[in-house]
Amino acid sequence: MVFFSGAGISAESGIPTFRDPLTGLWALQDPEKLETANAFREDAALVWGWYLWRRAQVSRALPNAAHQAIAQLAGTREVIVITQNIDDLHERAGSEQVIHLHGSLAQPKCFACHRTPTAFSFEEPNAREGLRIEPPRCPRCNGKLRPGVVWFGEQLPAAEWKRAVLAVKDCDVLLSIGTSGVVFPAAEIPTIALRAGAYVVHINPVQVAHPSNRELCLVGRATEIVPALLSLIGLPIDDRVERPVP
Ligand code: NAD
Ligand code: ZN
Repeated sequence: MVFFSGAGISAESGIPTFRDPLTGLWALQDPEKLETANAFREDAALVWGWYLWRRAQVSRALPNAAHQAIAQLAGTREVIVITQNIDDLHERAGSEQVIHLHGSLAQPKCFACHRTPTAFSFEEPNAREGLRIEPPRCPRCNGKLRPGVVWFGEQLPAAEWKRAVLAVKDCDVLLSIGTSGVVFPAAEIPTIALRAGAYVVHINPVQVAHPSNRELCLVGRATEIVPALLSLIGLPIDDRVERPVP
């Protein structure tokens, strides 16, 4: 089984999705303009401040019942998680095989030499909303550190994409959870699974695909549907999962 997750799986942990309207000071900014190399070149402190704020949001959030059910399932069969999310909620729920297609908030890299500093620790006392914060410098070349995430206009990390495609071509079932399917090439993942003969199940409050004989949509929230669905295929039943499938 392969799980393919997007921002919607973390929405119920309190992390806004990409399409949720921003509030407060950040409402003045367009995220599509903050998440580019050009934005960083023009105003690195604005972009670094934005990611520190997102990191602070993620560190306050907890994995929810959907992240947890997926992690529990790995004890009973081979499970690979492919995520577009830059948070670490799958890992904190206990999933071990997690492929991050869009990088991670946890690991900055140098904007100049592209290296990842070893033993970097975030000091973010001021990571409040809307602040401009100068990025720290690379210990090797003194370049500015940038977040280790994939920005608009950048290639996905080649090794992760290759591992993801191999896993998807080899799976029996792909569960695609909480993704709008508009950010490419990640959005090709369900199509690759279908072409390889797998079943694809979309879990989303919005109907995101046209059902066909090997593709179906379960319309609802991830924390309701994922634990209920997985309880049917052998998860130990506990209070959290003991619910009828909606
Ligand atoms: P998206 O914001 O485009 O779409 C979110 C999807 O989640 C929508 O289809 C929405 O209907 C669905 N959704 C909302 N609430 C849900 C719930 N409770 N249960 C299930 N589904 C729910 O997100 P995307 O498709 O992941 O693509 C946007 C990009 O933004 C990604 O590349 C990702 O890297 C980035 N992003 C990541 C995070 C994160 O790390 N948590 C947060 C915001 C954006
Ligand atoms: Zn450097």
